[in-house]
Amino acid sequence: MSVIRALHRAFCDNALSPTELTNCFFSEIHQQNPFLNAYVSLTQETAHQQAQQAELSLQQETLPLLGGIPFALKDNISTKGLPTTCASGMLREYRPVFSASVWESLCQEQAVLLGKTNMDEFAMGSSTETSVYGPTRNPLSPQDSPGGSSGGAAAAVAAGLAVYALGSDTGGSVRQPAAYCGLTALKPTYGAVSRWGLIAYASSLDQIGPMALCAEDTALVLDVIAQKDERDDTSRGLPPTADGLSLPVAGKKGVIPVEMMQGTSESVKQAVWDTAHRLENLGVSVETVSVPHLAFAAPAYYILACAEASSNLARYDGVRYGYRSDCSGAGFHQAVCRSRWEGFGEEVRRRILMGTYVLSAGHHQQYYQKAQQVRRQLQQDFASLFSRYDFVLSPVSPTAFLPLGKVSGNPVAAYQADLCTVPANLTGLPALALPSAVYEHQHPVGVQLMGRRFEDAFLLRLAHHLEGTGTRPPLPAPLATLLNREGIA
Ligand code: GLN
Repeated sequence: MSVIRALHRAFCDNALSPTELTNCFFSEIHQQNPFLNAYVSLTQETAHQQAQQAELSLQQETLPLLGGIPFALKDNISTKGLPTTCASGMLREYRPVFSASVWESLCQEQAVLLGKTNMDEFAMGSSTETSVYGPTRNPLSPQDSPGGSSGGAAAAVAAGLAVYALGSDTGGSVRQPAAYCGLTALKPTYGAVSRWGLIAYASSLDQIGPMALCAEDTALVLDVIAQKDERDDTSRGLPPTADGLSLPVAGKKGVIPVEMMQGTSESVKQAVWDTAHRLENLGVSVETVSVPHLAFAAPAYYILACAEASSNLARYDGVRYGYRSDCSGAGFHQAVCRSRWEGFGEEVRRRILMGTYVLSAGHHQQYYQKAQQVRRQLQQDFASLFSRYDFVLSPVSPTAFLPLGKVSGNPVAAYQADLCTVPANLTGLPALALPSAVYEHQHPVGVQLMGRRFEDAFLLRLAHHLEGTGTRPPLPAPLATLLNREGIA
């Protein structure tokens, strides 16, 4: 059952108040966060005001479904007057003067913001280890990373330190950490959710997505944030998704691209086949197919993402924006160089250099244009797949868990591990990560479903039906205790 609906019912039955719930979450955060490092800043004052406002609405019987429910935001989503640092030395002191549209939408619902979560610096990475605040631990196995770049958001939800979170996904950053932490998370169709106020990494790929404990909670949050927004020309919104979760799925057709299964661990292969089998039991067929151009997806993604990042991050020069080095007496050029060198971490600098290189005269054709060709080819390949099949089933990442420290020594290997997630960003298609029933090393192994443009609802529906076959992991201990104690679940 949906945790959000269970808590909402508890509010309406007076079994629990939004302020009590908020206090429970903060006391759990104070206990666990010094070890996990999931949150980088807490927003207690805002949370308590929002909880009180939710209580007033409760008395007037006008409390929205997400009202009074505590959640977390990745630290690249702008919150007016509250720290929004992208886990970078460059923005450590930054307090935005405006709010992201998604945050405004959640405020209108009277949702309770607990804090901002750790991430790879400027969302560049796969392990939350490039953060200026240090790495986050995976609550399921503390020697491991929670994945990244939205690793703090995933760790917070998996540890029971938030009911849900919003992350951003440019090449897999809500899906991969969700998979490592046993959560469900959606990278919506490009254009479903407004990016106004999301600090840009690569604008043609970025989307904001919900991360939650089940498909229904993911859908309930999506329905609030997926709105057309005048301030983001790419945004179109989505029809509501949560109401149709129980509609039938029998007769639908899925496909597994064999290239996405290559080089994956045994447990990841098992997770995909077990999911295919469960889908077959639901009357859904699953075949395999070859999509040869997938071999070029990760290289094309890294060229395009770095190119866009080098342009988006040009504004952080210590003059217009960001950290300014103490360089009295230095000339303008030297001051900018020094501010950027000191403000950005190693991975961000590497990507700015790569991006500048692939865009430079003489290399533009060889790299940037080639990558654009690959992107167009993949768009055609997936359009042709979706004329024959309703969804694509695949792994999320090649392994079920990621030991801390493994990524830093070998960035290229980490880039290659994004093979299964980047195609959804390159093509703009929706993609959902969800836990399978296969476990390795305390981790439910995640799998991915991709769908047609603006058919995000169908992916959530498939995931909801799969949960009915027993794939849903147990609730985080603090949340399970709370729900039991209050007789809610
Ligand atoms: N791992 C990918 C990268 O480093 C994805 C990041 C993201 O989606 N923000 O670019």
